[in-house]
Amino acid sequence: MRSAVRAAVWAAGEAGGGGRHVWPSSGTASRRRQNENENKWPTTSTSTTFATRCSVQQRGDVALASTSRFCFWDLIRFVESKQSLCVLTGAGISTESGIPDYRGPQGAYTTGFKPVMHLDFVRKESVRKRYWGRSMEGWRKFSRCRPNSGHIALANMESTGRVNGIITQNVDRLHQQAGSKRVLELHGTTHEVVCLECSYRTPRDAFQGVLEELNPPTADADVSGKPLFSTAQGTPGLQRPDGDVEIDVAEAFSVPHCPKCSRGEGGQSGDGILKPDVTFFGDNVPRWRHEAANELVRGSDGLLVVGSSLMVFSAFRIAKLAQDLGIEIAVLNAGETRIDEFDGLIKHEAPIGETMTRLVRHANL
Ligand SMILES: [Zn+2]
Repeated sequence: MRSAVRAAVWAAGEAGGGGRHVWPSSGTASRRRQNENENKWPTTSTSTTFATRCSVQQRGDVALASTSRFCFWDLIRFVESKQSLCVLTGAGISTESGIPDYRGPQGAYTTGFKPVMHLDFVRKESVRKRYWGRSMEGWRKFSRCRPNSGHIALANMESTGRVNGIITQNVDRLHQQAGSKRVLELHGTTHEVVCLECSYRTPRDAFQGVLEELNPPTADADVSGKPLFSTAQGTPGLQRPDGDVEIDVAEAFSVPHCPKCSRGEGGQSGDGILKPDVTFFGDNVPRWRHEAANELVRGSDGLLVVGSSLMVFSAFRIAKLAQDLGIEIAVLNAGETRIDEFDGLIKHEAPIGETMTRLVRHANL
């Protein structure tokens, strides 16, 4: 049963694939990058060596050490002391790829973002028009975002066998693009579209073509002359973490229904509602994802949180489970987190991409 659960829950990560796959056996993991031996520190981690490392760090790299109770070398010690890390990532790891986070200084909530509520999306066609209109405009830029050095560092850590798997709150698939194989998308992904009534599933890239065909540039206005998309100041809409942009969408925007189960031409209202495979606010994370996350935590000897404040309960409960099991936790994040007061927590506040790159370079993985 346990292997069956694994087979079912780890997303393949093939853009647009939509499938699931069994993750590779641990025996296949393994080669580290060729240049990894450069600049490697001694492998021993005695307290003397550790103290020396912190001292060097504080003198030589103020930017990485100044805002932390713990220094960079605490992260090194943490990673080196673990054999099988579970990594939990949030929006903070993707900001360097050009995707805004939720709670940072330029984050979505800070700039007026109001998330789509699940029941509103299901019940109101106007909400679906607004969502898909904004998504259609935002997808072109969102889908061009590429993994940054933080994603790549974690993929390298998985290839050495040090990382057992990644649980991500992000819906951008950048971990998979970076090469990570064992990724659990806790809140789903924007890269697939599903029908709420039947089993229909389609890649988001393909769905973009359907949206654009229904809403071509030549029909870029409704009968009153109002453009399909607009902002109050006529400026480009703000990019949002889920790939949409902050714009007004006219009533004339057309939303396709499911081609498999909807009746009538284009489907009837209420039939075959198509939705990104994302857990919206007000909806529950599917039980199988919780179980898969729990299984990963239980099979790990450390939890490394990267770029998440853990304010969302579905993520917080993962850290709480680790704490209850006596599994050591380290956090790399800019700003407060919901677990700052956890006993024994190692927390380092520093730029993620640069720090993760240095961690992979210096740690004895
Ligand atoms: Zn359907």
